[in-house]
Amino acid sequence: MNSEYSLIHAKRARKKGKGRKHQQAFHPYSHPQGKGQSDFSFDTIHGMKLKETQYVVPSSAERKARRAEFQGSNGKEGVRSKFLKMLANDHKQELKDRLGMSDAEIARMAEGKSVNGYNVHHKLPIHGGGKNEFSNFIITPLYPHDQWHHDVLDKQIEGMVEGSRRTVLLPWSDEMIYDPKTFGFTKENQPVQPNYTSKVNPANYPKIYKPEHITDAAARKRELNRFAPSPSKGAQKAPQRKKLIASIMRDCR
Ligand SMILES: [Zn+2]
Repeated sequence: MNSEYSLIHAKRARKKGKGRKHQQAFHPYSHPQGKGQSDFSFDTIHGMKLKETQYVVPSSAERKARRAEFQGSNGKEGVRSKFLKMLANDHKQELKDRLGMSDAEIARMAEGKSVNGYNVHHKLPIHGGGKNEFSNFIITPLYPHDQWHHDVLDKQIEGMVEGSRRTVLLPWSDEMIYDPKTFGFTKENQPVQPNYTSKVNPANYPKIYKPEHITDAAARKRELNRFAPSPSKGAQKAPQRKKLIASIMRDCR
């Protein structure tokens, strides 16, 4: 009997008994590692399914290199620019139909330039080992984008440092262009009625709809403060925490 078999066997044996598991309320969206840090009352946030993913923090040198690769450096075109060009060239109609982009905005993208009000989001952030691959990108209005970070990701990755590894629930879609008609919010933060019957009850996550989540410089600042430890818990840690959150968000611009 090898050790793998004995493990499986042991599991089965436990299941037959009156295991504690059966008496506990089953929560499908809770963090496998517990601690209640990511016990979400929803499995989808603005069209992005919460997907269990390995989040591994690369070395700071590696992250720096990936950010440079994304943004472009030393005259070398960034992958973000290439992605924007690809969308403008190959998905012009979807940009218009889904995001309501103007010809002028698409022309900007065709030059590799960002469009105001949108981010190119890394579905798996660089901070969590995400790569600069088109399949890891989605162009999205800022409002849902910031909720993916602040309402889903931030609290799950709190305290992670170089080399840390954690299973997290990541907002995920295979789409590369956000579709407010399917997902929920336009660039102007106007709610859009989804064209499907949602199983998710908005009443279960009221914090998502608070006005202070709407993105602007002030809101970002408030968000940063939210995650900073209170002065009594150690004022020294606050700047580091702010820096981390800010740098992860910057990766998506
Ligand atoms: Zn992002």
